Amino acid sequence: MKETPYNSTVTGKIMLTPDLMILRVRTDEPRIEFNAGQYTSIGLLAGESRSANSVLPIETLPDNELIIRPYSIASANHQTQNFEFYISQVKSGQLTPRIFNLSLGSRMWVDKKILGVFTLNKTPKGCNIVMVATGTGLAPYISFLRSHIRDHQDIKLAVIHGAAYPWDLGYLSELQLLESTFINFYYFPTLLKADSSWTGLRGYIEEHLKSGIIQEKSGIEFDPEKTHFYLCGNPKMVESVSNFLSQHNYVKHSKKKSGSLHVEEY
Ligand SMILES: Cc1cc2nc3c(=O)[nH]c(=O)nc-3n(C[C@H](O)[C@H](O)[C@H](O)COP(=O)(O)OP(=O)(O)OC[C@H]3O[C@@H](n4cnc5c(N)ncnc54)[C@H](O)[C@@H]3O)c2cc1C
Repeated sequence: MKETPYNSTVTGKIMLTPDLMILRVRTDEPRIEFNAGQYTSIGLLAGESRSANSVLPIETLPDNELIIRPYSIASANHQTQNFEFYISQVKSGQLTPRIFNLSLGSRMWVDKKILGVFTLNKTPKGCNIVMVATGTGLAPYISFLRSHIRDHQDIKLAVIHGAAYPWDLGYLSELQLLESTFINFYYFPTLLKADSSWTGLRGYIEEHLKSGIIQEKSGIEFDPEKTHFYLCGNPKMVESVSNFLSQHNYVKHSKKKSGSLHVEEY
């Protein structure tokens, strides 16, 4: 049998749309316990087939090249051998069209390292947490909520998730269930292109932050001493929400300077 670098098996593939999926993978060996919000890298050989709805990439890679990209982990931090990822297909990309062509039981590569400083469980005690995402930028928050929601009943937690259509709201039912279970958890999905059957919020995330509706419904104050903000996803959303928050005295957290605004860009 031909040797491959593969060390993991696909155990679940939930297609939410033709270009959006939840992928579950079991690694042959357990990984170390990680912090909710971190990411790992996954990979496939370039010789793997691409999905039927993808388009050819600009560059053709040799079949034996392992294509590796980072993905946030959506599963809980105590799950060290079964990982979940929330992935959108870049039709002209190298890795995602190959991921979208995988089946249950397919083999793939998952890095042994779990990395990243976007760790929500390091928020100072007593501070509220607002988690803002576009698209698959929701993944780190799903990991955090699955790992820690029960440990944070003394603070307020909110997820603001921007997407285009209702079917792009992965984890909608899980987040709605959390909202109906935990009185301190608030979920604000907002859509750009929904038809009239959508009764929730519409428009850009920053519009809802400016309008005051989030503060009004959740009682969360936009004060860096009381509330930490996490932003993950589209760089344009990250930029405009960061600009809005800087007017409320938020400073971006970095290794050199601690702040209440935490950012991960995809
Ligand atoms: C920390 C981190 C976490 C992430 N987590 C997630 C996640 O949870 N879910 C998720 O879906 N994504 C996530 N990403 C993004 C992910 O790592 C990949 O970048 C993404 O899936 C695209 O990979 P790809 O190989 O399919 O596309 P790529 O091949 O990397 O291509 C990306 C884009 O660049 C264009 N491109 C490629 N080659 C060229 C070229 N030579 N010249 C010009 N343009 C080119 C492509 O057309 C495409 O538009 C994360 C990224 C980071 C940094």
